[in-house]
Amino acid sequence: MVSEVEKSIKVLSERYRGRLRLSNCYDYDNQGNKIPFLEFAGACCPICGRDHYCMINAKGTRVICTKVPNDGKRRLNGWVYEINGEKPIAFNEKVAAKQRPKTNQQAPAQTIDMLYRIVLSMRPLSAKHRQDLLDRGLSAERIDNYAGHPGFGSFLTDSTYWKKKQYHDMQLGFNKAENDEVVFKSRWNYLFQHLNLAEDSWKGVPGFYLKESQIRTYNKQGEKVVSKGAAPYFGNKTEGLMVPYYNEKNQMVGFQVRVDHIGTQVKVLRYPDKKYWVEIEADGDTNEYTVRVSGPGFDPEEGTVIEQGHFNDGEEITVNFEMGLQKVTFEIKKGGKYFWISSANKKEGASWTTPVQVAYNPKITQLEADDPVLKRYIEKPKAVWLTEGGLKALVAADNLAKNFSEEELNVYGRDVLAVAGVSSYRKFFDKLKALHVSSVTTAYDMDFKNNPQVKENYKSLIRELLKQGYKVRIAYWSKEKGLDDALVNKSEFRFKDIK
Ligand SMILES: [Zn+2]
Repeated sequence: MVSEVEKSIKVLSERYRGRLRLSNCYDYDNQGNKIPFLEFAGACCPICGRDHYCMINAKGTRVICTKVPNDGKRRLNGWVYEINGEKPIAFNEKVAAKQRPKTNQQAPAQTIDMLYRIVLSMRPLSAKHRQDLLDRGLSAERIDNYAGHPGFGSFLTDSTYWKKKQYHDMQLGFNKAENDEVVFKSRWNYLFQHLNLAEDSWKGVPGFYLKESQIRTYNKQGEKVVSKGAAPYFGNKTEGLMVPYYNEKNQMVGFQVRVDHIGTQVKVLRYPDKKYWVEIEADGDTNEYTVRVSGPGFDPEEGTVIEQGHFNDGEEITVNFEMGLQKVTFEIKKGGKYFWISSANKKEGASWTTPVQVAYNPKITQLEADDPVLKRYIEKPKAVWLTEGGLKALVAADNLAKNFSEEELNVYGRDVLAVAGVSSYRKFFDKLKALHVSSVTTAYDMDFKNNPQVKENYKSLIRELLKQGYKVRIAYWSKEKGLDDALVNKSEFRFKDIK
């Protein structure tokens, strides 16, 4: 059965030529019905033409463009546009509400932290990821111990463990009972039982959901039987380094996965004559591409490589062959580097909002949530650094003391807060209050000037900080892009007080 959301995605992907995906945000129609917003993810925003960052509601009647300002309302970090003249999509909210998977309210931070500690113990850091972190400038102490648990992990899915024949690492399995009935088993049920935790401890913890699966077996009579079942599962399909996000109590409240290999999406804009078959391969890590052609005059088995080159993200490339009589035009887009482990759209998943990273200085990272020293530290008025990127914040906080004296740290801050993306800067404000911050040092990537959207968000952040009475100073450094690299390389820092 095609869901209401899938129906609109199909129509709108054709209308705006490319991919759209369901977001966690909602629009409301005149009757107050909840209409989900879809994110442009390859399809192009009708207002600004970009293929990412903007959203359209599932009826196709309203766009939130994050680039082109208008005099109207601002919502969800963009400007609202009513799309008149386009045919609205028959989106039935009543049907959609029924189809929406039941999700659970987010569990308390204490529960999330406890479950995430178990997750990390089951998904230990690989040697490769450990070396990556050391190379980035994180100390071995911080990698191996953060508030009494391993600092990081490496996430693999069940299907990878299956291929590697590491069955004991899989989350789901099944048993066949005497009466031929198949019982689905989750390692989580087993763990919770042995740790004396409630069977449904996972409910409301971001990343956990009820995974439905089916398996084909044979009964005693030798007949094929399909059995269906469901059991708790953690994580999505993205594999890689697990980066925890902490709250001010050193409790883990979210995980991002940094992918090992950046994915690519090739979109062919113009094909050659039908008798040729074109295959384009792209490597998201090296930005190299290969074009192969098969058909008359070319290697029929493997195809013949007619071009190899270097691409820029989203650049249009045309390759000629057959003495220029044939050509293929395509563009290659790179996927993201970081993905949240979320279960917001899954059955029995957890609703949530993305957290802010609180990366304390090394001494404080060792304290657990109920430690009175941590409590006193939170209440002390302080200066903090603000940046973007959770892992960057952890590396930066670990390296501040190598660059600045005690007196300088008192002024600039010893701890680093980070939002996952520059557009979420509003999330800083609650944390600044919770941490009794009086003065901030902003330290966004040095290339912020080249990206108009980043620049705009940065300006808004600073404006709002000043308005709320914070002392603001901007940190500058020479050549490195991010604060973490600048600190690790002991770059020359300059500070500018903003008034
Ligand atoms: Zn737009």
